[in-house]
Amino acid sequence: MNYQQIIVGQGLAGSLLAHQLIKLNQQVLVIDNGNVHSSSRIAAGMFTPISGKRMVKSWMVDTLYPEVIATYKELENLLDVQFLNDMNIQMSFASIKEQNDFYSALNDKINKYVITETTPHQGLNAPFGAVEITHSGWLNTLLFTEAFKKYLINLNSFLQEQFDFSTLTYQNHKWHYKNHTANSVVFCQGYQNKNNPYFKHIPVIDNKGDVFKIKTTALNNQKIYKRGAYAVNLFDDVFKVGATYKWDNDDTTPTPQGYAELKDKTDVLIDGSYEVLEHVVGIRPTTKDRRPILGKHEQEQNMYLYNGLGSKGVLIAPYFSKIMADFILNNTVIDNEISTNRF
Ligand SMILES: Cc1cc2nc3c(=O)[nH]c(=O)nc-3n(C[C@H](O)[C@H](O)[C@H](O)COP(=O)(O)OP(=O)(O)OC[C@H]3O[C@@H](n4cnc5c(N)ncnc54)[C@H](O)[C@@H]3O)c2cc1C
Repeated sequence: MNYQQIIVGQGLAGSLLAHQLIKLNQQVLVIDNGNVHSSSRIAAGMFTPISGKRMVKSWMVDTLYPEVIATYKELENLLDVQFLNDMNIQMSFASIKEQNDFYSALNDKINKYVITETTPHQGLNAPFGAVEITHSGWLNTLLFTEAFKKYLINLNSFLQEQFDFSTLTYQNHKWHYKNHTANSVVFCQGYQNKNNPYFKHIPVIDNKGDVFKIKTTALNNQKIYKRGAYAVNLFDDVFKVGATYKWDNDDTTPTPQGYAELKDKTDVLIDGSYEVLEHVVGIRPTTKDRRPILGKHEQEQNMYLYNGLGSKGVLIAPYFSKIMADFILNNTVIDNEISTNRF
């Protein structure tokens, strides 16, 4: 079949890019191998306007946040599935020092995102008090990617298989892949970019994260609860709790060390009993300067890379997928300030 674009990878990057291209009347073919350790299938999917140990305003959040809400709501309507959970983060302090540091860091840039008068939920371990972060929420990334895959299948736009680079050729101004042709090919492979013969020189840095699925009655579905680790409610008394951060590690086997580290964090987060139902790991595709990667191959015709969503794919992908679609269709110049530029 003939397509305008072949997209390799159906995580957040590939899915949201496909969505933007389809909206612009493009026929796309998305190819994904269904790797259960992909970042997008494991992620807790949180987004927040202030982050990091020092609680600074997230990069570009005033531009990114409106796109988050608009895009995922649009997708909920399109796919008829609810996956966006627009809710505050109730965050408790780990110490008096952390509480003091937080209040002294409050300034005009972040004041509007913080509710200081808050009574912590009793199941949140909060001996030093808590605050609430507004303009936050979480995306059920597994529900979203599964629903989007079904939508692509209905459009005859999805292949579940390992992309076979050896069958990709460029002839007569078209890319040929098995019995399909396309004007351009876009690689959105997350951490598996290292196996891409065209783009493996572009540094996508592995960052491994452990996540639990737990059962507890100590928390509820009203808020995201955070104290170092965070918990989001999946359904009934079942929560996703994350995460750990390990650099340069792409081993997707859960380890006893990962379990112990996350267990310690969960013990600090929850004031109550819980049962660990599942322990999984995923690999974040990060970059040194924490900027996403949007680029075009220097030699190959119409071949693109979209990657590097790091630990904030939910927040970053809606806006940057629009930029990427525009780049592919109109060759718009991408500002070096907003994309890792190593091409
Ligand atoms: C533990 C953990 C917690 C996280 N928590 C959050 C969070 O709270 N908030 C947030 O915003 N982000 C979070 N993230 C990060 C987020 O998951 C990523 O930013 C985002 O999902 C990356 O999406 P992606 O599409 O670039 O990559 P991926 O999700 O890795 O998708 C790439 C896809 O390409 C496929 N693929 C690769 N190579 C091939 C091939 N050769 N053939 C076929 N298919 C291929 C893979 O199977 C995969 O489906 C978390 C990540 C982890 C691991």
